[in-house]
Amino acid sequence: MSTDLLAHPEQQSRGAAATKVPVTVAYGDGIGPEIMEATLAILDAAGAQIAVEPIEIGERVYLAGNSAGIEPSAWDSLRRTKVFLKAPITTPSGSGYKSLNVTVRKTLGLYANVRPCVSYAPYVSTLHPKMDMVIVRENEEDLYAGIEHRQTDEVFQCLKLITRPGCEKIVRYAFEYARSHGRKKVTCMVKDNIMKMTDGLFYQVFEDIGAEYPEIQKERYIIDIGAARIATKPERFDVIVTPNLYGDIISDIAAEMTGSVGLAGSANIGEHVAMFEAIHGSAPDIAGRGVANPSGLLLAAVMMLVHVRQADVAAKIHNAWLRTIEDGIQTADLQGERTTKTVGTASFAQAVIDRLGSKPNVFAAVSYVNPAVVTKREKPLYVRAAPAKKHIVGVDVFLHNTGSTPDELGNALKALGTHALSLQMITNRGVKVFPGGFPETFCTDHWRCRFVSASDKDFISHRDIISILSNVTEAGFDVIKTENLCTFDGERGFALGQGQ
Ligand code: ATP
Repeated sequence: MSTDLLAHPEQQSRGAAATKVPVTVAYGDGIGPEIMEATLAILDAAGAQIAVEPIEIGERVYLAGNSAGIEPSAWDSLRRTKVFLKAPITTPSGSGYKSLNVTVRKTLGLYANVRPCVSYAPYVSTLHPKMDMVIVRENEEDLYAGIEHRQTDEVFQCLKLITRPGCEKIVRYAFEYARSHGRKKVTCMVKDNIMKMTDGLFYQVFEDIGAEYPEIQKERYIIDIGAARIATKPERFDVIVTPNLYGDIISDIAAEMTGSVGLAGSANIGEHVAMFEAIHGSAPDIAGRGVANPSGLLLAAVMMLVHVRQADVAAKIHNAWLRTIEDGIQTADLQGERTTKTVGTASFAQAVIDRLGSKPNVFAAVSYVNPAVVTKREKPLYVRAAPAKKHIVGVDVFLHNTGSTPDELGNALKALGTHALSLQMITNRGVKVFPGGFPETFCTDHWRCRFVSASDKDFISHRDIISILSNVTEAGFDVIKTENLCTFDGERGFALGQGQ
């Protein structure tokens, strides 16, 4: 399960086991220190050549007044080692504390979240015994840009940003992952029947880049039915690539379906830095009791070892872990019919250590290959195309307005048109209400008023927009914001109103 497809060159060119690879390690909160100690003990016993650089992040840092939960010195370590093994942390309740995970991912450009979701039936009970999928989730954009505004009394907005570089990086990562892991199929999950421009771009990039991987089967699912199929027929999926929010949701569904949240690890891969962590939280309910399952963090550490080109050690640990599970030695969260001995965190780690060098009997043994040393990337991750010819052909003016009917508002705004721009339509929550709206349409206090030039061929200037804005504001309307309507190389760069 290599995750090191797009890793930074220095890390890859380091010798496999010759020198110790510095790794930044955060012990985290709750069960974090217990599972990290267990994980590092196994790595050490297996002969992993890593030099641990501990940093402090999480609850204590937050409570000491750092709203991001991470000290400036920790960034220095991360930027130096470029590899981060992170235990779960607790974000104190209350506003004012920023999500550490989001901060780390975005600051370090960790654009790909890779989460293998595997069933271990019959040793871990699950309704879905044949599940072996990898979810590759875009990690930096979509609705997670955190650009939210309250615009009117009744309306709040969150901006969904999907970028071409973001799509290209994640889609290429997914195909490269599939190719290097011998996976047969990549499924793209989007909602491009509704979000034709944003999700449409994601899918278009999937088609374009997918064409470079003829040996890999491609398919597309609308996210709603795709999520339903994951829940009912997970065995039909191999690698899934999807934007941030959908990925967040389906990766938790898929992990839960494998039988325990304590089992899955994940990698967050960037161009320069990679972070490895368990998918579960800090589990304060069981912290300090020595009963937590260290498997999620251990399997994340296995991904990390492949990333730092210690594939043999990674396979040795993974196989010993599979054998431990098969032998029925399990932590309390996995307890079931096949459990022969219920053990705590440290004893579980010892059981894995005792089996280093053994292979599983029932599960297929795992083998890994070191990722190729990339000193110079064959193709850059993203090549910026020549800019398109962009022309403004209109403007959407958003108003906060109460008390007017759509027709009253429409007639008032019509009178405010200029020689360059005239009112074309008004929508409320995207539905056309003027001209010719239906009285049944429910209207909020948030109106999108579209002013356009006479034809797509008549381009307008920012000055024309300013004229419209001054007419509208001088007439007493409350303008919330504007969006320019543009064409790019003659193609419309904006959606039509519903009912337009
Ligand atoms: P967070 O918001 O940080 O994700 P949470 O409480 O919602 O926290 P978890 O911390 O993942 O979610 O815990 C969910 C449940 O799973 C808890 O009952 C917890 O005890 C259990 N759990 C989580 N991780 C483990 C683990 N490694 N071993 C055993 N049980 C675990």
